[in-house]
Amino acid sequence: MRPGSGSAPIEGVARFESPAPIESSAPFEGVARFESSALFEAVLFDRDGTLIHDVPYNGDPDRVRPVAGAREALDRLRAAGLRIGVVTNQSGVARGRFTAEDLARVNARVEELLGPFDTWQVCPHAAPAPGEVGCRCRKPAPGLVRAAARELGTTPGRCVVVGDIGADMTAAGAAGAAGILVPTPVTRTEEVAAAPAVAGDLASAVDLILRRHRLTSAVRSAGTGRKRPRCVLVARPDSAGDVLVTGPAIRAVAAGADRVVMLCGPRGRAAAELLPGVDELIEWPLPWIDPQPEPIDRAMVDRMVDQLTQVGAEEAVLFTSFHQSALPLALVLRLAGVGRIAAISDDYPGSLLDVRHRVPLGIPEVERALSLAAAAGFPLPPDDEPVLRLRADCLTVDYVASQPGDGDGDGDGDGDGDGDDGVAEPGYVVVHPGSSVEARACPPELCERIVTALSAAGHRVVVTGGPGEGELATRVAGRHGVDLGGQTSLTGLAAIIARAGCLVVGNTGPAHLAAAVGTPVVSLFAPTVSYGQWGPYRVPAVRLGDAAAACRHTRATTCPVAGHPCLSTVEPDSVVEAVRLLGERSP
Ligand SMILES: [Zn+2]
Repeated sequence: MRPGSGSAPIEGVARFESPAPIESSAPFEGVARFESSALFEAVLFDRDGTLIHDVPYNGDPDRVRPVAGAREALDRLRAAGLRIGVVTNQSGVARGRFTAEDLARVNARVEELLGPFDTWQVCPHAAPAPGEVGCRCRKPAPGLVRAAARELGTTPGRCVVVGDIGADMTAAGAAGAAGILVPTPVTRTEEVAAAPAVAGDLASAVDLILRRHRLTSAVRSAGTGRKRPRCVLVARPDSAGDVLVTGPAIRAVAAGADRVVMLCGPRGRAAAELLPGVDELIEWPLPWIDPQPEPIDRAMVDRMVDQLTQVGAEEAVLFTSFHQSALPLALVLRLAGVGRIAAISDDYPGSLLDVRHRVPLGIPEVERALSLAAAAGFPLPPDDEPVLRLRADCLTVDYVASQPGDGDGDGDGDGDGDGDDGVAEPGYVVVHPGSSVEARACPPELCERIVTALSAAGHRVVVTGGPGEGELATRVAGRHGVDLGGQTSLTGLAAIIARAGCLVVGNTGPAHLAAAVGTPVVSLFAPTVSYGQWGPYRVPAVRLGDAAAACRHTRATTCPVAGHPCLSTVEPDSVVEAVRLLGERSP
């Protein structure tokens, strides 16, 4: 809400408690919309230290000083058709340092200097005393971000939060919004390390937002006006998580083609089977992608060319991670007669690619893939959303009902009715201790303590694990968790996670499974790769772990630091607190 609109800003909080009607927002009529599904619809700014210089407990409009370039940065967003808002903690009201009227005057001065905002969300409450539970709006809680999205008639997933401290980024993540940190001299180094994205100033933050916006929607002129292809081959020959984050881009291709054939690897097959838009799967362990590659011989390449020739695809879109090359597969597809091939390649592709796309480092993998699809002529259509999804039919098999029960309704298998309810009743917390990559796994003894702490806090805890992780799950479940380790297929795991209130997991496939079924994630994220690129996408999530640990951005698969400090230092109580932040659903 606007400070000058006649009611005091604190009512923004009251409005958060009861859903406000969505206004048809006049300021944006007539603004050209993107033809594809828009990546972002709104940008929400922290106030003090981000838009204006921080003057602690300022109730005086004359002391409002915008940071350099703020007006220009905001005007660029307005011109691009994005709505803008403010999300700000103002505990000075509760502490009696200034009045609600002072606050309204200060906010009115901010608008006078920086132009109108489409929503103001203010938390007037004080920080909770140690051990006490605070209000639901004070950042790092996600309440203000959710309220802003609701008032703007959008979702947190379509919002970006720009702020100067870790609490801004946590609030953004816990709401499911994107975050960009613009540090000031008071921002702590660990907050900078943990941020999903960092910009040097407001102008750079806006550059980043608009670039991501454009990357995912810009259709190359070469891609427009050509005939709709009958059959397109898409490739993502990697593990489950990689396949899941490529899902939105594959849906974009499917929207522009009659038939989509997907080439996957053995480690990604189960995930590929869950993706909407895929009509047929071909499985090949590609020796230039697979972590345990087979030697290459001519007979193998001949077999591959023959099989891919049979597919009869007119076009191909080859998805990769930034450290992989699409060119060997492009060569095989050329030999198989594919006429038009698109891929991201920094390496010179010669005649191997028809659409050579390039993407800056550091943007989320989902958007990297969407941007390639758009460059190839397949933007995500406006009626789809850039979120992870699973096939509608894959969760209809009621895996959960088939779980052995003890008939006492508590699902703990002992028949005495005094245990937890297992997976029969939704709302439990899933702890998934395993990881496909050792350096990203949480130490088992810590997972045990996390399960114990969650159980002590009153949560029903379910421990899952894939094939080969049964022993690990049994150990981690201990006496306080329901052990479902070693028995769950990927589909079964998806069904279990879909009914959970929250998933506690490292940077591994099930985190993306949770994003695809909309279950919030406590991400025990080893910083070997970038959180901004690989964190759970557009789902409420809280990041834990030491983001500044020495393994940062090494891409190590085995932890290079004694004691695995990035994850072994996580406090079980911080997991309980993260689950609490995520579990507070606004009305
Ligand atoms: Zn509050």
